[in-house]
Amino acid sequence: MTMLAETITERRRQTRNSIYQYMFFSDTPHSKQEIAADLSLSLPTVHQNLTELIEAGLVRRDGTQQSTGGRRAMRLTIAENAHFAVGISVTEDSLRFLAANLRMHEIAYKKTSRLAINEIDDVGSLLADELEIFLDEYGLNRSKLLGVGIAVPAVFDAESQEIALAPTLRLKDINLHHITRHLHYPSYVSNDATSGGYAEWFTQPAQKNMAYLSLENGVGGAVHLNGAPYEGDNRRSGEFGHMCVEPNGLPCKCGKRGCLEAYCSAARISDDLGITLEDFFEGVALHNRTYEELWRDVLSHLAIGINNIRMALDCNVVLGGFLTQFIEPYLSELRQLAASLNTFESNSNYIKLCRYPKRASTLGVALYFIKEFMENI
Ligand SMILES: [Zn+2]
Repeated sequence: MTMLAETITERRRQTRNSIYQYMFFSDTPHSKQEIAADLSLSLPTVHQNLTELIEAGLVRRDGTQQSTGGRRAMRLTIAENAHFAVGISVTEDSLRFLAANLRMHEIAYKKTSRLAINEIDDVGSLLADELEIFLDEYGLNRSKLLGVGIAVPAVFDAESQEIALAPTLRLKDINLHHITRHLHYPSYVSNDATSGGYAEWFTQPAQKNMAYLSLENGVGGAVHLNGAPYEGDNRRSGEFGHMCVEPNGLPCKCGKRGCLEAYCSAARISDDLGITLEDFFEGVALHNRTYEELWRDVLSHLAIGINNIRMALDCNVVLGGFLTQFIEPYLSELRQLAASLNTFESNSNYIKLCRYPKRASTLGVALYFIKEFMENI
């Protein structure tokens, strides 16, 4: 192919991609006229590209709408079930599988029964076997599967591709290849909180800068700056759980003392008191003094951590992870605590609650393949 022909082909691909992305990020279907006007393209160009996308099964008709002239204009949207991706979350006692379509809607979900992951010799075989069972159980068409993302509560060594630290899983020095080698599909491994932050950030495209603080049995996070994930030099950005919020404080699973994770993880509540989070928050609401004291201590250390993140990054701090579903009644108190620490601001409205408190990391790691697909059409 000549250079000129290549340029023309690439320009045509970009036009088709811009049309697809426009529809991908729209919540409502659009007519060809609307697409042409909004993207400043000619109607024949839009028509030709949409015809190709419809023939490829990637765009579909979605009813009709009355145009101003009285003629009915066809409305179009992406064919959300043309493909799907799978996210797998590995935690210390379970595997969670989630299949998401191109609209990032959950089409299947399964949590395995209790497992002790740190006692399993070959996590890779287990994942591959359980994945096949999941696909069969839900009748998912393997030919439509874009890829499999795996979210692990671990810090990776970027050079050796090994798990450098996984305090809650107690896995160390395992190569990522060990986890993915038996899978028959494209695969990707990511830190769980990074994946959760990715899901939150991707579904709110207007938010250019965002710090995500994940509160689960471990505490982690993710940073997105200028509309892109910021991973850091060693893929360790957003490791907010191991910021020191109390010198010589409570011991942390990482081996240090006084980390935010030691104070604000869901595990602190369930380990200290031996009760479920539901029971704990019921007790707090009923003013059980022991529960209330522990919760005040969690909130005050959380405020320190959040204020430090705000000071370092000057952006919204989105609280995620399963603990977040219980925080709303205490959000104004948390905001006041954080504001009282802040040098520049009298309110802390920059503290937000996440959209996906439950399955953010599993969805986020699947999203990796959906985004890749959407960008390369
Ligand atoms: Zn720590």
